[in-house]
Amino acid sequence: MAYIQFLGAAGTVTGSKHLINTGDPSGKDGFQFLIDCGLFQGPKEWRERNWRDTPIPAKQIDAVILTHAHLDHCGWIPRLVKEGFRGAIYATSPTIDLCGIILPDSGHLQEEDARFYNKIKKSKHDPALPLYTFEEAQASLQYFKPVPLEQTVQLSPEISFRFLSAAHILGSCMVEVSLATTSQAKRLLFSGDIGRVHDHKMAPGKVVHSGPQEGETADIVVMESTYGNRQHPTEDPLRELAALIRDTAERGGSVVVPAFAIERTQKFAFILKHLIESQQIPRIPVFCDSPMAIKAVEIFLKHDEEYTDETRAMIRKYGSPLAWPGFTFASTPEESKKINAAIMPSIIISSSGMATGGRILHHLLQRLPDPRNLVLFIGFQAPGTRGFTIKSGSDEVKIFGEYVPIRAQVAALEQFSDHADPPELLQWLRTFRARPETTYLVHGESAASGQLRQLMQRELGWRVEIAQYLEKVQVS
Ligand SMILES: [Zn+2]
Repeated sequence: MAYIQFLGAAGTVTGSKHLINTGDPSGKDGFQFLIDCGLFQGPKEWRERNWRDTPIPAKQIDAVILTHAHLDHCGWIPRLVKEGFRGAIYATSPTIDLCGIILPDSGHLQEEDARFYNKIKKSKHDPALPLYTFEEAQASLQYFKPVPLEQTVQLSPEISFRFLSAAHILGSCMVEVSLATTSQAKRLLFSGDIGRVHDHKMAPGKVVHSGPQEGETADIVVMESTYGNRQHPTEDPLRELAALIRDTAERGGSVVVPAFAIERTQKFAFILKHLIESQQIPRIPVFCDSPMAIKAVEIFLKHDEEYTDETRAMIRKYGSPLAWPGFTFASTPEESKKINAAIMPSIIISSSGMATGGRILHHLLQRLPDPRNLVLFIGFQAPGTRGFTIKSGSDEVKIFGEYVPIRAQVAALEQFSDHADPPELLQWLRTFRARPETTYLVHGESAASGQLRQLMQRELGWRVEIAQYLEKVQVS
């Protein structure tokens, strides 16, 4: 008997965490492992779940299998270790390298937040505590074990898994689990986040060269549904991007781009370099303001095996972004402050991507009230985040406890998404060799999951359920 319990990313896009228990329902005997161990972000009711213990004690969990290095998939790992987990955390080598910077940075932000709330005494917890510290995040890195794509790993005599390409971000993968705990063997596929299927013109800045693994067979599929109710625009966005930047520079404003520090920032830097060198935008200073930016660039240059030919050609032509004239990668707070004082116009790329924390808050605080500036979104904004508030046309947003008026121009280019949209998902699902017994949709707002469910039922005739928070589903 085995079951999956959805501990996160059920009814929302954050906190991805799925427990597989292969023992009895009390959870005592079987091998128990997590697929992903992500942080809840966004509304307070979700974030509070970061403080709850796992339904079975962390020390009884035997392993974690990690799909990729986004915080909503890996950001709870240090907390799990803090709570007593001592098993192996399996991930691809690029994912491990990226976690090596993203998790300690997350711990650092947790500590900064706690310090801030203690200073302004706005936390109902006295004193406010970090979910985990920088040191605790670093200590959790010792449990990571690299696994190459498509190599089978035996977790126990009855359980094995392998990673398959997901084409979402550097190092990202799906997890195919084989269970032989009963007479009938079962294969489970956890999609993680699924990358774009189409070519680079519709998905510009795409680093990885291939789409998600095709020709899959699985009895149970647990699949993301972030863009379940929205289609990406199909026109090449570079012309629109260049026009937005030119207009902002002409009126003497700066462009502020909230972007995930890893992958998105690097890809966007390459696109800006291309637009500058092809004289589509003026040669204005570009600042990548993230403590992780320099290390992340180094990791990207190290893992060139996943690049598109186009990206490889750009690196050959222009060299490392760290050496580009006019591009500044800020790592220290002093360098960041200099950017804030910099004369306009300029382009500032900073994290976090949904403006939930990090240095982007300082840039938004300073530049949102000025109508000459542009705030440009190039990634998904989850409801409840500051990014969502700004993108939805609100006239003010709360930053550091104060309401800041939004007078800057706000624009969004959805084509930069690293998630497949419904036509792309169907294109991928049609390559399955057989119809799965059941597909559970996770990692989506309820409207997105609901629409994708209907589409899959209608177009594929599949049995599709929407995963509920803490729901257990039997798999064998
Ligand atoms: Zn992701």
